Amino acid sequence: MSRIPPRDLQLQCRCGTVRAIAHGVTPQMGNHCVCYCDDCQAFAKALGRADVVDANGGTDIFQLSQARLEFTQGLDRVEWLQLAPKGTARWYASCCNTPIGNTLPRRGVPFVGLIRAFVREPAGDALGPIRARVYRKFAVGDVAAIPPNNQSQWTMILRLAALIISWQLRGDHKRSPFFDAASGAPLKPSRVLTESERAALR
Ligand SMILES: [Zn+2]
Ligand SMILES: [Zn+2]
Repeated sequence: MSRIPPRDLQLQCRCGTVRAIAHGVTPQMGNHCVCYCDDCQAFAKALGRADVVDANGGTDIFQLSQARLEFTQGLDRVEWLQLAPKGTARWYASCCNTPIGNTLPRRGVPFVGLIRAFVREPAGDALGPIRARVYRKFAVGDVAAIPPNNQSQWTMILRLAALIISWQLRGDHKRSPFFDAASGAPLKPSRVLTESERAALR
């Protein structure tokens, strides 16, 4: 298989207020997957953006190092919510509720699950094929229509773990656009959903 040259992908929320670049993207430097988990589905619902999941409730995600992301416009509209205390940090553009990506709620593990809805141009071959479709048990609709995995979920997880370790060794967690470079604190406080808000999304 020939190597696909790195590309700088233009990222943008639906209304164009928040813009970013994902630098040097290739299928090898990240992990392309679809997540059907109920939390990812709840996030889309919390944003009122049912359109960002597919017919089976899947979220198309490209996991890469946070250091590859650079916001070029509208950073003040970048916010995050948590479905529960200590939950995954789910970043979005508050201007038009476009999901951006998922990270851990603290600095240290420099991966971000970039959500395809924030990639405004046709990404072409840059992201590569979907390696695996995970948390299938939460899929909705015609689940028989979901394609088989290109590689096993475990192969995907091990490969991703190796990538994350290499990013950490490189110090990428200190070059994240989501956390302050000096203090490591998130750009701003999160909004944590209440139990009743969360229940309403299930
Ligand atoms: Zn917007
Ligand atoms: Zn998920």
